[in-house]
Amino acid sequence: MTRYNTITSAPPAVAAARATDVVKSFGSGATAVVALDHVDVALWRGEFTAIMGPSGSGKSTLMHCLAGLDTVTSGTVAIGDVELRGLSDKKMTALRRDRIGFVFQSFNLVPTLTALENITLPMAIAGRRPDREWVTTVIDTLGLRDRLGHRPSELSGGQQQRVAIGRALAGRPDIVFGDEPTGNLDSRSSAEVLRILRESVDPLGQTVVIVTHDPKAASYADRVLFLADGRIVDELRSPTADTVLDTMKGLES
Ligand code: ADP
Ligand code: MG
Repeated sequence: MTRYNTITSAPPAVAAARATDVVKSFGSGATAVVALDHVDVALWRGEFTAIMGPSGSGKSTLMHCLAGLDTVTSGTVAIGDVELRGLSDKKMTALRRDRIGFVFQSFNLVPTLTALENITLPMAIAGRRPDREWVTTVIDTLGLRDRLGHRPSELSGGQQQRVAIGRALAGRPDIVFGDEPTGNLDSRSSAEVLRILRESVDPLGQTVVIVTHDPKAASYADRVLFLADGRIVDELRSPTADTVLDTMKGLES
């Protein structure tokens, strides 16, 4: 007779995005710059990951390659179980639109549209019907219920970035990428934006990856990856601003 044991351990982690042996160089010959030097990394589903490292260490390049905004020189990148190499432009565009959310340092909202229209714009373009219940949950998390009819110029920087996060989350992507999403914000607005990113992961179940310079911002993450000279050189789990700062100091010395 077969016996079935009760499995009490956590389910295996699933990669929302993965880079395998990725090299990215710019230019060629003697002037070539190796921005990513054989990077292997998995970004786990349902986690908030922060990427840190000195200026020029390859943070933006890694994020752009993982998000399919740039191609790799060698190695492979996958979003979920879809390998990006060899996808047609059309499939790549659809994958970015349907499965990836972006938050930029400079908000990048459409000035003539209201906050709500900005949030639902990608779905309107894709011809997808918004999941109303989800969009309402997102809007409540953003704390923007009474600002939905405002245009970007009528909102503070922090509010504009919250709209941009709403736009990234509205389609329920597999993964949300942010390159220095708090880089243009004062400390109070930064904290608000980071709280929202944190809540989008837990309890809402999204997967978020940000690049940041700020140890305080990184401390909101579950995991911090440290890059130096195009390589992942260290990693912290359950970071605090102090442990992040100490690790950064170790990289610079
Ligand atoms: P970070 O975001 O950590 O500051 P980047 O990923 O922007 O670093 O850059 C990593 C390295 O790649 C740097 O040496 C940078 O000068 C170089 N680099 C980035 N983008 C380009 C590009 N488009 N052309 C040439 N070199 C680039
Ligand atoms: Mg950068």
